[in-house]
Amino acid sequence: MVSTGTMMAWGTGFVVAAAMIEAWVLTRKPNANFDWNEVMLSFADLIGRKLLAFLPISLAAPIFDFAWEHRIHTMSMHSVLAVLLLFIGQEFCYYWYHRASHRIRFFWATHAVHHSPNQLTLSTAFRLGWTGKLAGPAMFFAPLVFLGVRPEVVMATLMINLLYQFWLHTTWIPKLGWFEYLFNTPSAHRVHHASNAEYLDANFGGVLVIFDRLFGTYVEEREDVPCVYGLTTPTRSRNPFVVEFEHWVSLGRDVLKSKNPLTAISFILRPPGWNPEGRGQTAEELRQQANAKMKVKVKVHA
Ligand SMILES: [Zn+2]
Ligand SMILES: [Zn+2]
Repeated sequence: MVSTGTMMAWGTGFVVAAAMIEAWVLTRKPNANFDWNEVMLSFADLIGRKLLAFLPISLAAPIFDFAWEHRIHTMSMHSVLAVLLLFIGQEFCYYWYHRASHRIRFFWATHAVHHSPNQLTLSTAFRLGWTGKLAGPAMFFAPLVFLGVRPEVVMATLMINLLYQFWLHTTWIPKLGWFEYLFNTPSAHRVHHASNAEYLDANFGGVLVIFDRLFGTYVEEREDVPCVYGLTTPTRSRNPFVVEFEHWVSLGRDVLKSKNPLTAISFILRPPGWNPEGRGQTAEELRQQANAKMKVKVKVHA
């Protein structure tokens, strides 16, 4: 069997090569507005994560060890049914991991880095944030280990999931017909990376979009609403340390200026943009503001 390390090395090599070819082709397009800085920042993220991999700071290992020690069953992966169940189970966990990464500011502090590029290209796929190992997203996949799937198998399926998502980070692949109903596609993921109020907090799936459809977070890309990529307050810095840590710094600042412990905890656990005075910039508040603006426009034109 191919080891996870070998798989990761080949996967990274392929992803980097494809991203560079795409960048080269996009730069040569007439009226190209291609930003190489965004590609470089994604490379800085990739190199940083590879270096951090040498440090024994992962929260995944102790969480997975604990779940494996207390597992209720030991799953054998020798049947098609077992592999299918693992795939669906992993997708379910991924959906909630990703949704939490957008709805809980503590997890968002890492995940926002993936959403920081102001253009959507293949290189975005490997900008995943340096602090993922510390922020503990492994806890969302621990139930699989607790049910009896070996930790290395869980990690391998997660890697395959992320590898699948690589091709979703493109602006040049159109909608794909019936494929859009079941699978995550470039069109669905463009919506996910868009900062337009209409598109915020949508399409959290990995390989599939069925859990988005099931839990009401699926939003279709609209021709009349072109995606604006990046964060609602765009990251303009070209300094990788700013890109990687600005959301942790702003979270820390909000926690420190909190008037009581409840507000401090709320800053950590509530959605990004939450404000104790109720005049924040959560997805819901931004949508309300956009709708109110739209109504004023309609009235003016009436
Ligand atoms: Zn996301
Ligand atoms: Zn993405």
